[in-house]
Amino acid sequence: MLTDYHLHLRPDEADTPPERYFTAENVARYRAVADAAGIEELGVSEHVYRFRQGLELWDHPFWREQAQDDLDGYCEFVRGSGLRLGIECDFVPGAEERTERLLGARDFDYVVGSVHFVGERAVDHEGWDVWEGRGDADEVWRRYFAALAECARSGLFDILAHPDLVKVWGRRRPLPERDPRHHYEPAVEAIAASGIAVEVSTAGLRKPVGELYPAPVFARMCAEAGVPFALSSDAHRPEQVGFGYDQALALLAELGVGEICIFEGRERRLAPLPCSGKRESLS
Ligand SMILES: [Zn+2]
Ligand SMILES: [Zn+2]
Repeated sequence: MLTDYHLHLRPDEADTPPERYFTAENVARYRAVADAAGIEELGVSEHVYRFRQGLELWDHPFWREQAQDDLDGYCEFVRGSGLRLGIECDFVPGAEERTERLLGARDFDYVVGSVHFVGERAVDHEGWDVWEGRGDADEVWRRYFAALAECARSGLFDILAHPDLVKVWGRRRPLPERDPRHHYEPAVEAIAASGIAVEVSTAGLRKPVGELYPAPVFARMCAEAGVPFALSSDAHRPEQVGFGYDQALALLAELGVGEICIFEGRERRLAPLPCSGKRESLS
């Protein structure tokens, strides 16, 4: 079984109204690419901050600008589309109860928990760049992984998204001097204690860093701690569905991981990954 659970039906750009992208035709385009790649299970996980209800969690200027759509309209559309219903929800420190209420009021199959911001600044968004004016990479990485640990520990989410997103810019931003394992360790401890699944995301291959999330060393630490994995591309366009899965599957095989997480109604089970023979047909 292969999955792609972290899908966006539209690009992140501003002029992407739901009526243009939340359509049966667009879903069919995602489905067609998935079918060709042998990916059985697809789920949509739109950003929580693109919905007006997201402002119940955080009143950040970027969120205010993005919060255009109705969350319940989205849920209704995805439910009728034959895709699994997910959401990518940022962990907002201090908003745990409001987050629980917002998520609990809807019948999601799974919730992907993300850390994009460290304080008021983003690790992956140029408009809110955490690196602007400050360059202590070890401090930025420490704060990012501390937030990731808190995200896992909150118990609010089923899947931890792009776990080392802080590296997204690669060499275009300062890199920590310390061994990255020093930064991963407290996060892995929190992940293992919480029972959250970790996403192997191929999105990093499309970004300046040019590698999977999580980095192989981080992934190995998770595997050794017995953490289950989910598999996603974080596609924002149909042609990105299953992108780079050969590399994700090679990593999982190297770690001795033979199963990935499947979700329904926020219940998780494990399904075997296809054997290597079948994988060769994937591009
Ligand atoms: Zn994300
Ligand atoms: Zn995403």
